[in-house]
Amino acid sequence: MMRTWKFQRTKIFPRAIILLCAFMLYCIPPGIPAEDGGPPCAFDQIHDQAALQAAQLRIQDAIQARKAQKDALLDEHESYTIPVVVHILHEGGDENISDDQVHSQIRILNEDFGRLPGTPGAGEGVDSKLRFCLARLDPQGRCTDGIVRIRTALSDHQTFQRPQLGALSFWEPTRYLNIYVVGRIAGGVSGYASFPDGPPEEDGIVVEHNHFGNVGSAEGRMGRTTTHEVGHWLGLFHTFHNGCGDDPCTDGDFVCDTPPASAPHSGCPWLVNSCHNDEPDTRDQVENYMDYTSDVCRNVFTAGQAERMHATIKEIRSVIWSDANLQASGCDEDYTPPDDCVVAADFVALHREICIGNSIEFMDRSLNKATRRLWTFEGGDPASSEESNPEVSYAAAGKYSVTLRVWNAEGGDSISRSDYITVQPPGTGAALPFNAHFEADEFPPAGIEINNLDGGISWERDSLAAVSGRYSLRINNLVNTNFGSVDEVLLPFLDLSSIPADCTLSLGFHWAYARSDPNFSDELLVLLSTDCGNTFTRLFYGAGNSLATGPTQETPYIPKDEEWRSARIDLQEHRSARYARIKFVNVTDGGNNLYLDDIAIGTSADLTVDVRNESRGHFNVAIAPNPSGGDAALSIFAPAAGQATISVFHILGRKESRHNVVLQVGRNSIPLRLTHVPAGTYVVEIQVESQTMTRRLVKLP
Ligand SMILES: [Zn+2]
Repeated sequence: MMRTWKFQRTKIFPRAIILLCAFMLYCIPPGIPAEDGGPPCAFDQIHDQAALQAAQLRIQDAIQARKAQKDALLDEHESYTIPVVVHILHEGGDENISDDQVHSQIRILNEDFGRLPGTPGAGEGVDSKLRFCLARLDPQGRCTDGIVRIRTALSDHQTFQRPQLGALSFWEPTRYLNIYVVGRIAGGVSGYASFPDGPPEEDGIVVEHNHFGNVGSAEGRMGRTTTHEVGHWLGLFHTFHNGCGDDPCTDGDFVCDTPPASAPHSGCPWLVNSCHNDEPDTRDQVENYMDYTSDVCRNVFTAGQAERMHATIKEIRSVIWSDANLQASGCDEDYTPPDDCVVAADFVALHREICIGNSIEFMDRSLNKATRRLWTFEGGDPASSEESNPEVSYAAAGKYSVTLRVWNAEGGDSISRSDYITVQPPGTGAALPFNAHFEADEFPPAGIEINNLDGGISWERDSLAAVSGRYSLRINNLVNTNFGSVDEVLLPFLDLSSIPADCTLSLGFHWAYARSDPNFSDELLVLLSTDCGNTFTRLFYGAGNSLATGPTQETPYIPKDEEWRSARIDLQEHRSARYARIKFVNVTDGGNNLYLDDIAIGTSADLTVDVRNESRGHFNVAIAPNPSGGDAALSIFAPAAGQATISVFHILGRKESRHNVVLQVGRNSIPLRLTHVPAGTYVVEIQVESQTMTRRLVKLP
């Protein structure tokens, strides 16, 4: 029976992987860092399940059509060669791997996909007839070694930043397999890949440098992370995809000759048999490249997997291995490359529109190892530079050209781009204070922008929970399966200099959040730009325990009053910015509802006044333990900082004590010592501003 792709499955399945990966920490051989304990491959986290299903059906149809035509998929060609470009994104450390390390990985891909005799890839599987060639000609037909090197802080990135890797460097994906080698992928992930028929601008694979190849920074490894990711890129699922499923052929990884597996494996557990719905009931194929087992354990692609990969290259990736493309990329057998290529000038800047006084980082991405370079920046300061990544500022409005000249032993090259940079006078933002309570019917409120980058689930106005008034802002991560997608709340441009000089400038807001699984968390970031919105620095980051305010639950989270938390961020160092922009960013991981309310920017008074002026107080008071032997604590949740008076009376009216306390925003714990009073019932009275709350406390004998 064919299992349809159930929505529920897409929510639950990635979690199962992470749960198991917590165990994997203990299975990683000594000497290999366990990192954060995340999944080795982020495939299940980053892919939209609906898109995967569409691609899956396309591949499946191609297989069926070819079978119907009795078309021998594997025998048409001797082999199918795929040109590869390797983009090394580095920060000048070990992650700027050597050419030798790149070549070692290309060799391993050919050994593994070719089941090359006498190599570690010669397992019990098949020769998939897929081959890989480091490109010898770039998209413009220039001589290249197939390696692009860029110095960039994005070498350490999170998967949601994937589009920016493409903005740095990206070769036509129908013609080249784009491989990004990076310093670090957040979350303990060693690699991730696009699936066939996915968004063209994110096509390719990303691998951490110490999992790429088997020499240099990957010494001791065997390059199987890249083999595995290229398997995804060619249409393969994990062998444990969908768990055991119903039918080992038409469910699971949709490959008949890979035995079903309930979950990923680590190490080399040869005798595990986690599913019994296959006939004959065979053990799990832990030696398959598409499991998570150790590098040394994996050496098999099956005939069924080869069939899927061939269907993919025939149906979806049909240009890349064509004779015409092999000739154009220098991967044709008849092409004889020169020993060394002349340098080919190229550069990139991620931000090309700035305000006067702001600066831009230019990045040299010339091919073939420039040994010398000279930049010329029209209108820029500096006007010229010999650095790889010069930082250039512009003092006047206008459009400016940039020229880069580069040389190596084989010769020189230059590139000029006119009107590459646009510089505008900065505006002046709105005067402070700024307040957003989300009470008005208009949504988004005037001046606030909602940036729904994936067009899916996003921020909306919510009436189920609020700190002030009736409404808050909420994003429903519980139904958001586009893991890693980013949704932004952009505040208007503000003039942070518009408060009195002797006042402290702060940003305050309230949030509430719960997870749906203790192993998963969505993320909340608050970011600030002082260069017209081009670059942002982080003011606040919350995830996991630092973000959750309520109990983990699989039902939609609606916070209780006392479950709201607040943050106050000091903005003193940014108070000269007259055109500043702040944004709140949700990065989803399929967790639960995240709420925001009462965003305020201004002096301390602006922040507290805004909460105190409310009609509804949200103080929450509790005493524990109660009854008590004499030592108890009073817990007060305060929506704003302020003073409270705590009085303790005997139930008959006799006053025992009275004292003032200073309340911080959020939870306050105040000791209640009743060791000196007789046993009995007491009343604790808490006075805050105009409100009085009372609680009973029983003192035990
Ligand atoms: Zn994977």
